[in-house]
Amino acid sequence: MAAPLLTIGERTEEEPAAPSLELSNDLAEFRSAAGVAEMVRLAGEVLGDPTFPVARAWKRAGGRSVATFPVYTPQELIHALGMLPVTVQGGGENLEITHADALLGSFLCSISKSTLEMALTGRLDAFEGFVFPYICDVSRNLEGIFARSLPGKMTHMLHLPQNFGSAATLPFLIAEYRRLLAKLERVAGRAYDPEHLRASLATFNRQRRLVGELADLRRERPADLSLVEMYLLTRLGSTLPRELHIELLERALAELTARHRKPRDALRVVVVGPFCEQPTLDLLSLLEESGCAVVGEEFQMLSRWYGDVPSEGDPLENLARAYLEAPVDIGVRATPTTKEAGILARVERTGAQGVLFLTAKFCEPALEDVVLYRRALEKRNIPYLQMEFEERSTTYEQARLQLETFVESQLFD
Ligand code: SF4
Repeated sequence: MAAPLLTIGERTEEEPAAPSLELSNDLAEFRSAAGVAEMVRLAGEVLGDPTFPVARAWKRAGGRSVATFPVYTPQELIHALGMLPVTVQGGGENLEITHADALLGSFLCSISKSTLEMALTGRLDAFEGFVFPYICDVSRNLEGIFARSLPGKMTHMLHLPQNFGSAATLPFLIAEYRRLLAKLERVAGRAYDPEHLRASLATFNRQRRLVGELADLRRERPADLSLVEMYLLTRLGSTLPRELHIELLERALAELTARHRKPRDALRVVVVGPFCEQPTLDLLSLLEESGCAVVGEEFQMLSRWYGDVPSEGDPLENLARAYLEAPVDIGVRATPTTKEAGILARVERTGAQGVLFLTAKFCEPALEDVVLYRRALEKRNIPYLQMEFEERSTTYEQARLQLETFVESQLFD
């Protein structure tokens, strides 16, 4: 039977799909995970469940959580107010879209529809609020639709500067962070305290360094950490309490350092484009099966778009400066460097032999960047392949063929 049509502001009266995974309130399952394999299995189950089992467990234990749409929300602000920040990055392949299609146009990325679908069907009820950074028109409009569809919840659109050279840029961003803080304070039921933000900066710095170590290990010894393992271990950090993720990463890194698998011939590639909507795990596995060793990527940025944030002085200003001064060239962001120099630096830094543009279907910001990146790569004769994906892809024959042809043409020419 066709799903009933909704207008913006209405929610379905259907019961949301029954949660498939119930975690204990203290998330003990993660602490008792015996090793990397068990952590990865658990991560696959948790992240594949569009009812957000970690946020539900957190709520049952009396906590509050705030969801953020990718990419640039400083989740440290949510953490500093004692709440759980969770990145909501689409519904993945397990979510059936039955309502959001009626509200959003056909030529929009899948993540916008699956995120709205989850809101309309009660799957996001564990969250007290939603933050949408203004990364594109789709994200901006989602904030408005959420505000009307979930009137009892806090929603906020975070404006980000595009001009990095003006004297007004830093005060503007600090003011924007303060606007967000004011709403978060109401949700948290407590006032912002710079000391708490300093502690949060230290926690996020630690998490960022560990994720960096995982990425280094992957770049230096790609055979010892599969792409799917790395992806799941990293993405857990966008949903777990950050302190727990830090514990897991420390244990995982100790185990992985002792791993020594036989390396195999593969084309070292940097994957560019999937900073927002995420490819399926099957597509990630296919990259490796086809002979790619992914030595650089932007699947799960967490807060890797800047380095350590100092805690001395005004922590809010430090956070704003970190965003403005980070030479990170992922999409939907003007940067202090140019896009062309950025892609070349990434290739050089990772020792990549080629670039794979993996762009979400209908993601205009990612597609626009490809034009600039390609020009830079062509000048240096660096090979690249461009492919589109959707978070709900199920067939990969064409992708396999494209990938295998690309790899063979570079490895065996
Ligand atoms: S996938 Fe692209 S177009 Fe869609 S919300 Fe993300 S950045 Fe915007």
